[in-house]
Amino acid sequence: MSIEQTLQERSGNICELCAATDGLSPYAVSPSDDSAEQSIYICETCKNQIENPQNLDSDHWRCLGDSMWSQVPAVQVMAYRLLSALGDQDQLDMLYLEDDVKGWAQAGMLSTTVNDDGGAVIQRDSNGTILAEGDTVTLIKDLEVKGAGFTAKRGTIVKNIRLTDDARYIEGKINGSTIVLVAAFMKKA
Ligand SMILES: [Zn+2]
Repeated sequence: MSIEQTLQERSGNICELCAATDGLSPYAVSPSDDSAEQSIYICETCKNQIENPQNLDSDHWRCLGDSMWSQVPAVQVMAYRLLSALGDQDQLDMLYLEDDVKGWAQAGMLSTTVNDDGGAVIQRDSNGTILAEGDTVTLIKDLEVKGAGFTAKRGTIVKNIRLTDDARYIEGKINGSTIVLVAAFMKKA
């Protein structure tokens, strides 16, 4: 079954965010391996809004009051990011995410909320602890290392990390390769 067919079946052929029935297509919830599990099935309106988060229409996103209760982690992740971008703290407080789902959500926050304080770029681990150059971290989930052809297992220790100029990412060496790692999937040792 193609990803699109899998998503059609999972969603019942409606937008997984707003329940619209027209213009549906798969949307990878970054950072994503483009699998059905890490994608959502959404309409053109939702997609445009997600790709232009500076123009979020709060009327449209009342639909999150229903879709945030989805059992699909990828939908929960997008609901979390949208509610954050909308500044809807009341709904966010009700949205319970498993730790790894929350890490995923925080790894790709919509751009209205990244560095919105205009301050220095700060990388935080899965617990919100600030990371510094030279720290040692452990992976909290298995990560497929694209291009290097191996999977870094959960629990892998990465010593002497380097910070990047993007709050979402750090750099570290695994199996001798320097790779970019999502800070929210790390735990400071
Ligand atoms: Zn929609």
